[in-house]
Amino acid sequence: MNVMNMDIEKSWFVEAMAKATTDMWQKGWDERNGGNVSLRLLDDDVAPYLSGLSPEPRYLAMNEPLPELAGQYFLVTGTGKYFRNVGLDPAHNLGLIAVSADGKGISVLWGYRDGGGPTSELSAHFKSHIARQAVTDGRARVIMHCHATNLMSLSYVLELSSPVFTRALWEMSTECLVVFPDGIGVLPWLVPGTDGIGDRTAELMKRHPLVLWPFHGVFGTGATLDEAFGLIDTVEKSSEVLVKVLSMGGCRQSITTKNLIDLAKRFGVTAMPEALAVECWFRSESRR
Ligand code: 13P
Ligand code: ZN
Repeated sequence: MNVMNMDIEKSWFVEAMAKATTDMWQKGWDERNGGNVSLRLLDDDVAPYLSGLSPEPRYLAMNEPLPELAGQYFLVTGTGKYFRNVGLDPAHNLGLIAVSADGKGISVLWGYRDGGGPTSELSAHFKSHIARQAVTDGRARVIMHCHATNLMSLSYVLELSSPVFTRALWEMSTECLVVFPDGIGVLPWLVPGTDGIGDRTAELMKRHPLVLWPFHGVFGTGATLDEAFGLIDTVEKSSEVLVKVLSMGGCRQSITTKNLIDLAKRFGVTAMPEALAVECWFRSESRR
């Protein structure tokens, strides 16, 4: 291991990524190589390490040019890599990449040491970064994908609609409406690792900080790794409650529409109107 690699491995961003991916593995959200994370870095983050990075970085062309991201840096998990190994060997399991000035490809500045490359979901990450940067005034820096067990499970049971999922999850924990007032977007099942699923994910990310891929997993976003992790943790906790409630025979009582409106008022958030309007989100439920 050379000196410069040791240095970048001690950077705040490599250490934060190692912690986030380790936590995700420990949560059980990322079996085998499941899941991927991208963290946008600023020039100031990367500057102290640039002189020691690869003088002839490997260039990888992208299927579609993304000029909106030209010149941006990202720390991205490697394709096929296991989250449980990131902390043990960041240089093999992570990569620092820069989008070229014309937006047509990426250069690998550090990492992917065995010749690998970024996640197969790079299209969904990059297109979601474009969408979230636009709607958050540049605050958003993280896109996080994982196979959150309980949320995935619900995709076999609940109607696959954004208002229904949002409403059901808001009702399963009082803090949910405050944490994700813009709700969760729900896609139909699509083939992963394609530009198509990337386009559809990013389209929903313009409105929602969470996007469910049914029978697969979830995409979440935030300004920091903590924020994206916390968001997914919250929605997954609420999903776990709902799985338990359904397993016990369904709701006999729950948070009401009036309760949700009062919550939104108290915490100064605007709740997704289509989810507030949902009247019955589970077929066998009889309480309304
Ligand atoms: P990668 O190993 O390519 O990141 O794929 C994992 C995954 O979860 C695909 O959706
Ligand atoms: Zn996945």
